[in-house]
Amino acid sequence: MPDSQDSDVLIVGAGPAALFAIFQLGLYGLRCHVIDGLDRAGGQCVVLYPDKPIYDVPGFPEINGSELIERLLRQAAPFEPLFTFGCAVVDLTSDAGGEWLARLDDGSQARGDYVVLASGLGLFNLPPDGSAADADLGAGPISDWPLERSRGAIVVDPGTFETSRPGLFAIGDACDYPGKVKLILSAFHEAALATQEIRRRAAGGKKSPVEYTTASRRIRESLGRT
Ligand SMILES: Cc1cc2nc3c(=O)[nH]c(=O)nc-3n(C[C@H](O)[C@H](O)[C@H](O)COP(=O)(O)OP(=O)(O)OC[C@H]3O[C@@H](n4cnc5c(N)ncnc54)[C@H](O)[C@@H]3O)c2cc1C
Repeated sequence: MPDSQDSDVLIVGAGPAALFAIFQLGLYGLRCHVIDGLDRAGGQCVVLYPDKPIYDVPGFPEINGSELIERLLRQAAPFEPLFTFGCAVVDLTSDAGGEWLARLDDGSQARGDYVVLASGLGLFNLPPDGSAADADLGAGPISDWPLERSRGAIVVDPGTFETSRPGLFAIGDACDYPGKVKLILSAFHEAALATQEIRRRAAGGKKSPVEYTTASRRIRESLGRT
């Protein structure tokens, strides 16, 4: 019997979209299992331009790819996400009760109540020496999954970021909707709205009021701040 890990939300990919989604879901008390075929978090930022300055991340006049990822990991850390690196998700199925099962290419399995596809442009295949210069970006198994697509990406409702499959969300470069721009700041917005919707579903459909991080005692405590 293969190993199986349970979490509230399975996230496929560990790029910037995924890392911000972990933080948002953590604020709502939901625990994530994040799976990436790479041996580290960061997606395109750490593979394609780790040392290049990025100038259009709000609040940072200049920040390079590695530093942005290091900060996103630090922001998500209080919520203790489970990371599985070096494994690709090769299949996703849901049962009659709506629970999702992901099959990984090492034969293990992971379960979650919701899935967020933050799989970017596809699966990175690094050569055995791990050198990013020769990184190959393959379409990966997600390209075969039966989901509605446009412009090579997965069609989502731009209000909830749900795909054509209930309980399956897509954010970041993996998704498409009218006006979609493949930028990190768009990925953060998409993560915020998808996670709000997951929060609502997890609460049985009850919409929760927005809590400001500046003002909420509950949030301060969940971050270990008093
Ligand atoms: C050269 C370059 C420069 C850029 N400069 C900027 C810039 O200045 N400003 C800006 O805002 N944006 C920039 N971008 C775009 C930005 O990098 C992307 O919008 C952003 O990385 C998207 O993040 P993401 O989390 O959606 O996906 P990604 O960063 O692509 O991460 C997706 C991850 O999912 C993993 N994955 C995929 N499929 C699977 C699977 N089946 N199983 C397990 N893991 C899987 C991949 O290995 C990858 O690590 C640039 C892009 C490039 C290529």
